[in-house]
Amino acid sequence: MSLNLTEDHKIAVELSDGSSRRYPTGITGFEIAKDLSTSLAKKSIACTVNGNLTDLSTKLTTDCSITIHTSKDTEIALELIRHDCAHILARAVQEIWPNVKVTIGPVIQDGFFYDFDKDEPFSENDIDKIEALMRSIIEKKDAVKKETWDREKALNFYKEKNEPYKIELIQDIPVNEDIKMYWHGDWQDLCRGPHLVHTGQVPADSFKLTRVAGAYWKGNSKNKMLQRIYGVAFRSKEELKQYFLRLEEAERRDHRKLGKDMELFHLQEEAAGSIFWHPNGWKLYSTLQEYMSRKLENNGYAEVKTPQIVDRSLWEKSGHWDKFRENMFIVEVDEQDKAPRINALKPMNCPCHVQIYNQGIKSYRDLPLRMAEFGACHRNEPSGALHGLMRVRAFLQDDAHIFCAEQQIESETKKFIELLSEVYKDLGFTEFKIKFSDRPENRAGSDQVWDRAEQALKSATKMAGYDFLLNKGEGAFYGPKLEFVLTDALGRDWQCGTLQVDFVLPERLGSTYINNIGEKQVPVMLHRAILGSFERFIGILLENTAGRLPFWLAPTQIVIASITTNIGNYIDEVASAFKKVGLRCKVDDRNEKINYKVREHSISKIPIIAVVGEKEVKSRTINVRRLGLKEPQTIALDDAIGELSMEATPPDLKLGKELDNRVIVTK
Ligand SMILES: [Zn+2]
Ligand SMILES: [Zn+2]
Repeated sequence: MSLNLTEDHKIAVELSDGSSRRYPTGITGFEIAKDLSTSLAKKSIACTVNGNLTDLSTKLTTDCSITIHTSKDTEIALELIRHDCAHILARAVQEIWPNVKVTIGPVIQDGFFYDFDKDEPFSENDIDKIEALMRSIIEKKDAVKKETWDREKALNFYKEKNEPYKIELIQDIPVNEDIKMYWHGDWQDLCRGPHLVHTGQVPADSFKLTRVAGAYWKGNSKNKMLQRIYGVAFRSKEELKQYFLRLEEAERRDHRKLGKDMELFHLQEEAAGSIFWHPNGWKLYSTLQEYMSRKLENNGYAEVKTPQIVDRSLWEKSGHWDKFRENMFIVEVDEQDKAPRINALKPMNCPCHVQIYNQGIKSYRDLPLRMAEFGACHRNEPSGALHGLMRVRAFLQDDAHIFCAEQQIESETKKFIELLSEVYKDLGFTEFKIKFSDRPENRAGSDQVWDRAEQALKSATKMAGYDFLLNKGEGAFYGPKLEFVLTDALGRDWQCGTLQVDFVLPERLGSTYINNIGEKQVPVMLHRAILGSFERFIGILLENTAGRLPFWLAPTQIVIASITTNIGNYIDEVASAFKKVGLRCKVDDRNEKINYKVREHSISKIPIIAVVGEKEVKSRTINVRRLGLKEPQTIALDDAIGELSMEATPPDLKLGKELDNRVIVTK
């Protein structure tokens, strides 16, 4: 027995600055904050104890480390504010309509929602009323309290209150887990927490209820349809304002709207998830594909084309039939007198590429073998998930597989990252992140092989000059992977590129090569893509540029617009001179006012409008108006032809073109 009784009732608490203090057992995070400074206590919203975020009211009973959080800890603050908002929303609804049943109310991106069972739909007026009441609840600064109940008590409580959804939720909680109740003033909710200290910590001017939508209980269409109220919440009025500005900007840049304005594509019910590309859109698409094709060729890839419809037996061998069956479109083909053949539209190209690899004997000298395909794939996405170009059922992958020896993984990965960064830069994306996913719990292959493959990906990333973020345990069962995430002009992230190491598929499908001592060996396969899908990438490209595509990608680069109708054939002369050097141009000699024409072509995002009037005819010039620039510029026709054709040259061909010109100059 210890001689010092009082020390027995104390715990050692390590603070975030590394120092340590002793406190009585049962002290709360809030009391520690107060001990450190009164102003900190006032600002504090929650704490992290031994790595777990928890309420400031949690009693500490063992030695631990603690970090006190304030609203400066952005992510934690936003999470808590939004979570408390959801509770305050539900409290407000039940204060106005005591018979409404409550269900769940999680935090989502930018905000929160809560699902209610209420017979009458919420009207706009109702939403205003709820919002006003939420603000007055916030003003009350009601304390948030946490209690742990036993299961019986909780079930009886909800039976009495006639809250069937809460009873269902409790029944879903594993028996060994605590039932936690949170009180916001007199109103309580079943919840895991954590929460803020009092309702007043939600800034009253920084949230907004945004819309009401139907949602099935537990997301199951067999269940009752509930009413979901959505809201957004931030730390300050300014942050809320910025959010709405971003939203407006995103709407302005919506690729579906731009697709219409620029006459690129449309969608219709009869081919849900497949795109009807119009002439403009297809010009953009094929210009991008031609560019990618040149980049691949220059980087040692060989293009192939494999079948669209493939018998199920190959999908069974590859394992896709087992794992991917739900996403595959099945096609039955009648065979005379025999049972119909079951085929699938290919959801990916990998097994077909292995079939090409497997033709003939391969030696180590054939490796690395880089096989590329602009592979048209089909995947049966649920109709609710389809979204313009961003989520489709029919798409073209810029797919390639590198068959290589294990010791080539590193150099091939480095080469790939370099190629990918060139492509992203050419397409206007200067910022991207790399995520590295290492071994998952369930995996094929030995730990030594994983060690080497992971090391290869990591050092290749470093050698290419990049850092990576670790996605622990997120690799595929057949190998580690890299993911490449673009950041667009609105700061949104888009995962586009991937590189996945695969030890399994080549073996499953019987691929081998003869190594340098004459033995048969299984190659490693690297699955890799840069754009991902052309459809989605074009969607991202449109939103990133707000439709102002790089000049070389613009479907129509120049519209030559006449001011008056009596300018003879000069306008046609300009057009044919432009076309001769490969510029994509159109003539607009309609009898319309020039301002009207300029406005119309600006809406369809034509990069350059070349205005031609009597003055220009006389001086053999054009008046160039660039999209987004106020000041027009008069240029001699001959100069314009040279300058614009240079500007229209795809970036990968530019160096060559400049050299060409230099040769001409020195002659
Ligand atoms: Zn909650
Ligand atoms: Zn693949």
